[in-house]
Parts: sequence; C-alpha cells; structure tokens
Amino acid sequence: MNKGIFIILIGLIAFACTSAKKEKIVTEEDLLHAAGNPGEWLTYGANYSETRFSKLNQVNDQNAKDLGLAWYFDMDAVRGVEATPLVSNGIMYVTGPWSILYALDARTGEKLWEYDPKVPKEYAEKACCDVVNRGAALYQGKVFVASLDGRLVAIDAKTGKKVWETLTVDQSIPYTITGAPRVIKGNVIIGNGGAEYGVRGYISAYDAETGKQVWRFYSVPGNPDLPFESKAMEEASKTWTGNYWEAGGGGTMWDAMAYDPELNLVYVGTGNGSPWSRKHRSPDGGDNLYLSSIVALNPDNGEYVWHYQTTPGDNWDYTATQHLILADLEINGNKRKVIMQAPKNGFFYVIDRTNGEFISGEPFVPINWASHIEYATGRPVENPSAAYNDIPYEAVPGPHGAHNWHPMAFNPQTGLVYIPAQNMSFFMSHDPKYKFNDPSETMVIAAGNWNTGVMMVGGKREYPSFGKLLAWDPVKQKKVWEVEHFAPANGGVLTTAGNLVFQGTSDGRFVAYNAKNGEKLWESPTGTGVIAAPITYELEGIQYISIAVGWGGSAGLTNSFSETQTTGKVYTFKLDGKESMPEFPEKVQNPKLSGVSYQIESQEDVMLGAKFYLNYCYICHGNPGERPGGVIPNLGYSRTEVIQNLEAYVLNRALANKGMPDFTGRLTTEDVDKIKAFIQISVDSN
Ligand code: CA
Repeated sequence: MNKGIFIILIGLIAFACTSAKKEKIVTEEDLLHAAGNPGEWLTYGANYSETRFSKLNQVNDQNAKDLGLAWYFDMDAVRGVEATPLVSNGIMYVTGPWSILYALDARTGEKLWEYDPKVPKEYAEKACCDVVNRGAALYQGKVFVASLDGRLVAIDAKTGKKVWETLTVDQSIPYTITGAPRVIKGNVIIGNGGAEYGVRGYISAYDAETGKQVWRFYSVPGNPDLPFESKAMEEASKTWTGNYWEAGGGGTMWDAMAYDPELNLVYVGTGNGSPWSRKHRSPDGGDNLYLSSIVALNPDNGEYVWHYQTTPGDNWDYTATQHLILADLEINGNKRKVIMQAPKNGFFYVIDRTNGEFISGEPFVPINWASHIEYATGRPVENPSAAYNDIPYEAVPGPHGAHNWHPMAFNPQTGLVYIPAQNMSFFMSHDPKYKFNDPSETMVIAAGNWNTGVMMVGGKREYPSFGKLLAWDPVKQKKVWEVEHFAPANGGVLTTAGNLVFQGTSDGRFVAYNAKNGEKLWESPTGTGVIAAPITYELEGIQYISIAVGWGGSAGLTNSFSETQTTGKVYTFKLDGKESMPEFPEKVQNPKLSGVSYQIESQEDVMLGAKFYLNYCYICHGNPGERPGGVIPNLGYSRTEVIQNLEAYVLNRALANKGMPDFTGRLTTEDVDKIKAFIQISVDSN
C-alpha cells in the first residue's frame, strides 16, 4: 500500500472514530421527529403527540415470551418511583424520589453520574402525593429536571454538572413540582402542584439556554382588585363567586402536556379546585374556569387559545391533568385532528384539537357523579346527590380518579387507547367549619393540612375498588378488552408495533399483553409495585424494554411489603436476556401485627383513633392490614415493635430523614395511643 494512501486511511479511520464519539445532542428537529426515531426515547410521552407508541417490533407477540433481564439499576430508594426514563446517545436519564437524576449506560445500566438537587426533607409535607418525580427533558446537550421544591435545573447531559437553576415558585406557599418538563420551541415548560393546600395554578416557559422566564399562564383568576394578567383571566373571573382568590383556587397543571407543531398549540391539563368543596370555593356557583380543563395555549407567548372543561364547578378533586394524546382519527367518515383524555372524572373524551369542540365522551368505568354528557353542549349532567353538601356521598370515582397520572398509550395499528383504569370510591361530606389555612377549624386530611373543605368520612361501600388495563376504542367509545388487576393504582402503559402492550402492576409484576386481544404473553416479578410507565429503545440492533419500579405516591391503599420491602429499581429486558433478577425479600402475605398495647378509656377512643388515622395516616399508609404489596409501609404489616413505638415516628421525627412528617402540635401522645388502638383492632378484625 502506498504510504500516502495509508496515512489518508489512518486519518479517515481516526476521523470516523472521533465522529462516532462526538456527542449527539437532541435538537428541535429531533424532538419534532421523535416518532420516526424509535431507537431513542427523547421526550416524556415518546413524541410531541404523547402516544407512547414505538415502531420497534423486534420484540413482538411471537417472541415476547423469550424476554429476559439485560440489566438492572438499584436507586436504593424507598419512596414512590414514577419516572419515564429518556434514552439518547446510548445514555438513559431517569429520575427517582426527591427529584434525583441518574444517567446510566443504556446498554449495561452502569451509573455514569447522578445529580441530586438536595430537596429539603421538610418538603415531603408540602407534597400531597409523595416525593415523586415523573422524569426529565432533553435539549441541546442539557437535561432539565424540576425539583420537588419548585426549582427548574439544567444539567450538562454529558458531565452531570449544573448549568443553570431557576426558582419557579414562591417557596413560602406550598407549591411542589413532580411532573416532567417538556421542551417546545427552545423553551422548557413546567407547571406545578399544590391544589390540596390552597395555591393558584400556573405554567411557565423558560429559555433553555439561560433559564430566563419567557411566559407564564395562570389557570385560575387572582384577586379581581388587582389587574388581570390576561383577557383569559378576566373572562375566567366571571365564572367565580365570593372571595375565591383567598384560597388560591387551584387548577394546578402538574402533569399532562402535548404539542401540535402544525397548529402551533401546546395543550395542558388543569387540576382540581382549591378547596375541593365548591360551596366554600365559589359559594354562589359558577363553572370556575379553567379548573379541570384541557387548555390550548400559543407556545410562543403562553396566550390562551381555547379550552374544554371536563368537570364544570369541580367538587370532587376531578383533575384534568391526566395524560393528553393527539391523534388523527376517522370519525363519521371525516378525518379529525383530535386530543384524547381519560381524566379522573371517568369519561373518555375525544375533542377537536383545532378548536376545542366536543366530539364524544363516554364513561370508561362505572361512575355516579354524572349520568352522561349532553352531546349538544358537551356538558356533563350531574347527579344532584353528588353535590354531597352535608350528607356524605360515596363519590365514584373518588379523588384518586378513574384514571390518574399513570400514562396511557395509543397504538395507531390497533386504533386502541390502553388505559390504566381504576376505581376507589370515597365518602365526601361538606365541612361546615372549614376556614382557609385554619387547621383548628377544619378537618385536615393527611400530613400537611389539606385545605379541602371536605370531611373524609367512613361508611359501608357500595362500590368495590378495582384496577384494570382497559383497551378502549376511541372512535366507537367502547371497551374492546380488559384485564383485571389485583388492586388499583397500576403502572403506566407502553404499546409497540410488535402488537404488544406493556404494563407494570401494583402487586409487583411487569407484563406484556397482545395489543389486539389482551392475551398475556409474558411477565416478570419486580419485587415491588409498579406505577411508572415503560419505554423501549434500540442500540446496536437490540431492542430493549425498560421500566422503573418502586411503589408509593398517593394511591389510596398502600401495597406494602413493609419491613421486607425492596428498593426502587430500573429493569431493562431484551430477548434472551440472561442477567439474574435481584433477590426479593419474602412477601409478607398476612399482617403479623399482634399484641400492641395501648391505653384507651372507651370505644369512643378507638373511633377517635380512626378519625386521626383517616386524616393523618391513611393517604400514605392505606387501610391497616388491607392488601400487601409496595413501598410506603402499610402499618398493618409492620413489626409489632414499630407500632408499639409509634410515637417516636409520629412526634419525635425518628424517620425524618425518610420524609416522614412531624405531627407535633397536631397530635398528642394520647392521640397516638388511640391510633395504635385503631391499627391493632383493624388488623385483628380483618
Ligand atoms: Ca388533587
């Protein structure tokens, strides 16, 4: 070989090597065409239409039975894991509890770096539903993660070092962020939560390069004595009565977003009213715009374009923050550009996404708050007794929703939407003594003084709880198949061109189904309950399926392995994967709690214990002794010594490092004894 050619060849090889190593960064074009690049998972919902559908089909209905573990990563976390991982450039970016971001080698699971925003532990008390985080966003060499305490952080995707950080909330007000940001037209968009505590919802856009705020859209009006931020707020204020702004109003946009680049619209789901009880919130009625709505905004300036309200005058914590999916469907012979949602209120909606026109809406599970939607107006027809007032009402769905944040998926090949559906009824009653931010006058729910104006009451349930994977035909508004799960609060969904649907379950399994008929094709144990949604990607010709696991959050009943729980993990599977699963602790099948001693005077003290338990413990720890399975311990499955020493945890902060709230000032030693009595008696009577 001629020496000159040899040198040129060496040069070319060297060039090829450097260019292969050159970091590929996620550009606006990449995000716009994410659906055409199934080898990566670049944004929360897989693409701007948020379909969570992948064109990969190496793993399919014929060979899914051969899936095996490729690798796993241990987050070493014992709180809820809700994240959808992202994959780009051979790196997986996944978030765990406390908004911690991990970068992993997507081939091996090896940790490359970790970024901990160091959220103060006392923020656990400001979070309605655990210290969770649903994921990150990628753009121009940066990873964006929003921390529980309201900061938006840009991190160098390669090194894990912080580039900028912007505070997006007033930290003196109980705002929290659990959602995944999206990057649209060079801006990072993020909302927040806190409608259980009395905040005013908004969503903001920040320049991805600098972190500077570009726009902000409020979902509900503020004090009408001050100038309205926009025409939309002026219009909205006409649908509220009383001093609504004092308790914030709610409408927090804490999860769903979607984007249509052709229409230049970003769609956002808005949350429930704050307080929940509309009698307190807006005493003379009104729809209370833009609560529980799908709102279309101009992504350039955040200006309102249209809205569709799913629950006018929301009274039941029926958020419409649930997953939004864009699709083009043929309806009555016409191609329609639609947006689909299965919000908490139990109706499946198909809305024209160009203008917000109602196309169809039918209940996807049994509901009792409304009889139907009037098609001429697009308004639900409320059941009069569902207004609850002073008579407790068993609301179905309850505030956990017929479908919560757990992402659904749309498969264009089957034409079906796969919904992690559920029902958990909830007795609601208007609290006549409610005053905003005055826990001495109101019944508070859970750790952090929920400002709901609603009393949580017991009663004999008419409606049994359930969890299901539902395959829904959005054109016919009809169920095609369903799989019944062990309990509510199951994981989000992935669907693929391999005719597959993947979902994790609250009882600790990861399952593949035939997308057409729901036949179970494969499952793997996960050691803990699953609430997050799976993803898929491809590297060097191999298709991988990944799922982050770790049960927690507010799911109404706690599936707990209790003292023998396993930690949150990311599992990645491939065909013929040979890696061994980690050892799982033995599942506790029955509550073992026995012989807890307590001092009570009478049966009334047990009732008081039950009341305290419902208000302070239930939301996180569930019914004592009911249904084993997940991460935050069900107290009925605790070791006897733990409940015997309950005061140490409740009043003396023995678990403060894990985010267990301090109840000093709200409960006394005597109250804790009554709670102990209630827990032991509940377990004994189960
Ligand atoms: Ca809520």
